[in-house]
Amino acid sequence: MALRIRKNDTVIIISGKDKGKKGRVLSVDNEKHRILVENCNFVKRHTRPMPQKNIKGGILEKESPLPQSKVKIFCGDCQKPTAIGSKTTDGKKQRICKKCGAALTKGA
Ligand SMILES: [Zn+2]
Repeated sequence: MALRIRKNDTVIIISGKDKGKKGRVLSVDNEKHRILVENCNFVKRHTRPMPQKNIKGGILEKESPLPQSKVKIFCGDCQKPTAIGSKTTDGKKQRICKKCGAALTKGA
């Protein structure tokens, strides 16, 4: 099984208009290979006012999911985008930074 980015990981965007932006992963769609990153890839949506549902209308900015190929995991230890490696400790598989070997399980 491939080592994947998970919810609450910190990722960095490596291409597109938000290149270089960092954010927390809000959700991962493994079927569509898309990742929703906090404060990244905003898409403007025009909304109609719907007073019954308490929706004001106007232009709404919302995060939209990015393809997994556009993001890389960000290592808090070396402060760089990195690749996910793996290490087995006490029979448990751990995700580590391929550059410095720090565990990437923080916040998970
Ligand atoms: Zn690292």
